[in-house]
Amino acid sequence: MSFQRASGESEAIRRIHEAENRTLAPYAMRSADTRGRRHVEAPHPYRSAYLRDRDRIIHSACFRRLMYKTQVFVGQPNDHQRTRLTHTLEVAQIARTVARNLRLNEDLTETIALAHDLGHPPFGHAGERALSAAMAPHGGFEHNRQGLRLVERLEHRYPSFIGLNLSYEVLESIALHSSLRQHPDLAEFGPEQRMLAESQVVDLSDSVAYDTHDIDDALRAGLVTFEDLRETEMWRRAEERARATYGSDLAGKQLARAVIRSMIDWQVSSLLKESERRLADVSSVDDVKRAAINVISLEPDVSRQKSELEQFLFAKVYRHEQVVRTTRVAERMVRGLFDELTREPMLLSEKYRLRMKDEPIARVVCDYVAGMTDRYAQHLYRSLFEP
Ligand code: MG
Repeated sequence: MSFQRASGESEAIRRIHEAENRTLAPYAMRSADTRGRRHVEAPHPYRSAYLRDRDRIIHSACFRRLMYKTQVFVGQPNDHQRTRLTHTLEVAQIARTVARNLRLNEDLTETIALAHDLGHPPFGHAGERALSAAMAPHGGFEHNRQGLRLVERLEHRYPSFIGLNLSYEVLESIALHSSLRQHPDLAEFGPEQRMLAESQVVDLSDSVAYDTHDIDDALRAGLVTFEDLRETEMWRRAEERARATYGSDLAGKQLARAVIRSMIDWQVSSLLKESERRLADVSSVDDVKRAAINVISLEPDVSRQKSELEQFLFAKVYRHEQVVRTTRVAERMVRGLFDELTREPMLLSEKYRLRMKDEPIARVVCDYVAGMTDRYAQHLYRSLFEP
């Protein structure tokens, strides 16, 4: 189904569009240039297309469920760990800062950030691994494609259409976030092209956010120490900057916070500097999409330090014995739920059973399991397997 733009605009919307024309860079995506929605709707009197999309995402059930979905640490070892929801808010906050400074469309950037993790199943990557293994013979599973399914088919809040009927550019950003671009579900979003600059900002803000908050959470959970972190150049340099600001006796939680703050600030500054350089000769959205390289990037040296930090996190945090044990349990739980519900679809709620008329049972069960929060999955698993 193709996309169509609504016709006509109110005085308030005309002012928003004019303000965008005055303030945004030529490579920014303007609300007035949207390709529109699958189902034409009358324009809103005072919200631009992307503001309306943002609000639809915030009011969706799948957004609220992010509150009880794991980011990395399964089972929420304490109440201060990030969840998918607080991670998403950190990403949105970093991305908006970057977008505003690069004169990109901040409203669109925020919307893309709020939507970027909607398709994640319970228990973080453990849940994704389990579902992609279970779905391998049935068309596969990947969280970005699941995000598209959620906003296009599974959310049902409007009497006149299924899904949230989001603008093309927001859907495109979810689709092109996928690393498996060849999938037929993504064909209509130009998978051979680069993402919009606003999407690229969210992509990098995502990694700035998780690299730094995973360190914070790992320190709090006692998985790593300052000594371990000093193995990485990025930590060492950030610690030097923190001590230069706050003095050499900085220690404990205040040290952790100051270093993490410095790491975020440094990466964002680097992102702005390198992206400004790359955007110097870019004069349209089309240029961004056809560019040989991404227009949004860290400087090469910072990028190298970030990769080193990520290798450290992989070895010391994501592969920490305690994390591996809980993620293995989570994988078995997700697989167990998938297998049991596929064998006995009467265990599905009526809403899902009705969908089996239109789609294969494996896909329906996958949608159901992927939509669960960690605690709902745990509760259902116990009720099915523990007499
Ligand atoms: Mg994310």
